[in-house]
Amino acid sequence: MEIEQTVMVQCPYCAETFEVLVDCSIGHQEYIEDCEVCCRPVTLVIDVAEDGVVSVQTRGEDV
Ligand SMILES: [Zn+2]
Repeated sequence: MEIEQTVMVQCPYCAETFEVLVDCSIGHQEYIEDCEVCCRPVTLVIDVAEDGVVSVQTRGEDV
């Protein structure tokens, strides 16, 4: 299992997709990353399963 994985996420504001680097050594994490396209803050809720499968949910401030 890789320590870091690149995951595609979809921006809740502009619906563009961009890549985020996920640290898989942390099972659950939440942080804010600015969208690369519209530069608005996107809340990323990341869960890493024991088998290394990464799932990412995105949330916008007002969406
Ligand atoms: Zn965006």
